[in-house]
Amino acid sequence: MQVTKLNTQSILPLTCSRSGTCCFGKTVMLNPWELLSFSKEKKITSREFRDLYCEFGGIRLRFNGKPDKKGQQACSQYVENVGCSVHLGRPLACRLYPLGRQIQSNKTHYIYQGDTFPCLTDCSEVLELPKLSVGEYLKGQEADPFEKAQDEYLIIMQNIADIAFELLLDSGLAASGDTKTLSVWREIGNELPELLAARIGEEWIDCLMLPAINDNIENPTTFAQKHNDLLLLKAQEKFGNLQTPQELHDASVLIMGVALHLARGLGADAKEISEHWIETAKSHGAKE
Ligand code: SF4
Repeated sequence: MQVTKLNTQSILPLTCSRSGTCCFGKTVMLNPWELLSFSKEKKITSREFRDLYCEFGGIRLRFNGKPDKKGQQACSQYVENVGCSVHLGRPLACRLYPLGRQIQSNKTHYIYQGDTFPCLTDCSEVLELPKLSVGEYLKGQEADPFEKAQDEYLIIMQNIADIAFELLLDSGLAASGDTKTLSVWREIGNELPELLAARIGEEWIDCLMLPAINDNIENPTTFAQKHNDLLLLKAQEKFGNLQTPQELHDASVLIMGVALHLARGLGADAKEISEHWIETAKSHGAKE
């Protein structure tokens, strides 16, 4: 599908008439900071929010409310005739909508799919509303901390994947002639999110989505960096003394699964990213 790229100066009918269908039939993926943000607004724990309103261990918001005229189900947080019940805690996807966000060569682009502005499909009246620049719109949506959290978790995703690389490349596993680890990396990149979550298991899913960090941290960067430290510490504890090729293989697959699961929560294409990581490992001597 065609994608239209914008910068923060681009002017669009980005004000909202709030009469559209943007809280129906969508896919809203979540990172751990967004899960925490929801739970604070709802005044319940992140675990409670995840178990009540999320799928796949917390990386996707559940859309199981009353359907609209088109049969699209409402977000679990949508209240009929009222709107979002957790407006102040809503995640980045909801703050950006109808825009998406792409980072290429360290540059952030804001995008929408197709060549027609998406709101016009259901809310043609937006053309009558005042226009804003993308930058003004993002400011009004208070998107900045959520963009920061997203960027930090992209770094964490790569840090977790780096552990899988170390277990394969620096441990001697690849040099010993292993060919099955990359095959399983490919398999898990193609795996359905619920199956990958089950493969990773509760202990690592909880460490990924429900980190034991002080909930009162207001700065997303600080929160994410503490989370990064926790994940690296856990990996060190679990994988620091592995000996056999089978143990190294299992650990490399497990931690690659964690990285790919987080990638999905960040809206990335797990299949595409696993192929990229497989090619990177091959370029460093791993074989399939
Ligand atoms: S979290 Fe709120 S704004 Fe986002 S889709 Fe759900 S109801 Fe709509």
